[in-house]
Amino acid sequence: MNFSKDELFICNCSSEDHQLIFRIWDFSKDENVDVELSVSVCLNDNCSFLMRIWNSIKYIFGHRCNYGHFQSADIKLEDLPRLRAVLDEFERKRLRV
Ligand SMILES: [Zn+2]
Repeated sequence: MNFSKDELFICNCSSEDHQLIFRIWDFSKDENVDVELSVSVCLNDNCSFLMRIWNSIKYIFGHRCNYGHFQSADIKLEDLPRLRAVLDEFERKRLRV
């Protein structure tokens, strides 16, 4: 198993909490396993212990923020060619072209 280099995309808002890392996993040397594309999302976990307890209590009572349970990352226009290259490489490896 090996993987291609990581491609890091930082959100248009430049927040360090909004990062996406794309990685292509190549299992082609193993039998019956394919190529996979993973997307890692940086989640903000730098809350204090008491803040995490407070967030848990809010969650138990059904609190939802305006955006639901998800954050989002706004990919910069200038990063589109890099993202396209990652997806093209994944497709090439997946289809073994
Ligand atoms: Zn952002």
